[in-house]
Amino acid sequence: MTDRRDELAANLAKVEERITAACVAAGRKREEVTLIVVTKTYPASDVRILSGLGVRHVAENRDQDAAPKAAECADLPLSWHFVGQLQTNKVRSVVGYADVVQSVDRARLVTALSREAERAGREVGCLIQVALDAASGDRGERGGVAPDGIEELADLVAGSAGLRLAGLMTVAPLAGEYAGRQRAAFERLMDLSTYLRRSHPAANMVSAGMSADLEEAVAAGATHVRVGTAVLGVRPRLG
Ligand SMILES: *Cc1c(COP(=O)(O)O)cnc(C)c1O
Repeated sequence: MTDRRDELAANLAKVEERITAACVAAGRKREEVTLIVVTKTYPASDVRILSGLGVRHVAENRDQDAAPKAAECADLPLSWHFVGQLQTNKVRSVVGYADVVQSVDRARLVTALSREAERAGREVGCLIQVALDAASGDRGERGGVAPDGIEELADLVAGSAGLRLAGLMTVAPLAGEYAGRQRAAFERLMDLSTYLRRSHPAANMVSAGMSADLEEAVAAGATHVRVGTAVLGVRPRLG
């Protein structure tokens, strides 16, 4: 366990250095960027170590794994982010522990989140997940709404009890015009955020960038980066 702590501490320090360097390069303050550690596929014991090392935000993408992990870690001062595609039948469970759902991409999901948040007496932060490679009116293969669907969903979230519209999230597309162009993709997300904030000024979270492209996200103006592999190691399976 001590070895694992050393390993996580060293990885965390490297990621911290990368974020700091990216902030310096972009002329941004380090406090403008929040690190979210994506703990999917890793055990609750790792989450506990990370909390001890000062991590305050963790993310998960599968409710089956996340729910027991969050329960085991309920005593820790952590914010839990849900970043995976979310089925409506999992919403009640997710609302039980998630402070923020970053993968809001359809009206039915908003309705379900609102109902369960109200039932639980909780306020759930919502990010609209944007699929930059999705065609107009469509959704992305890995979830997310096409850019022209943001406004309608955002208005719906903003008008829903129990929900707080917090901003936008994206995953850099593997296909389409932004494939291999993370910086351009994240700049597009920033433009969409600027537009969104005209009608929803408080929705100022911009979640972008992972282990491989956090520098591009910070350069573009992201407020939150989601880092898994670079902190915890290469995942044993796709997740
Ligand atoms: C897994 C995952 C991450 C982290 O990816 P890494 O490459 O391991 O840093 C970030 N965002 C989402 C939505 C993920 O599913």
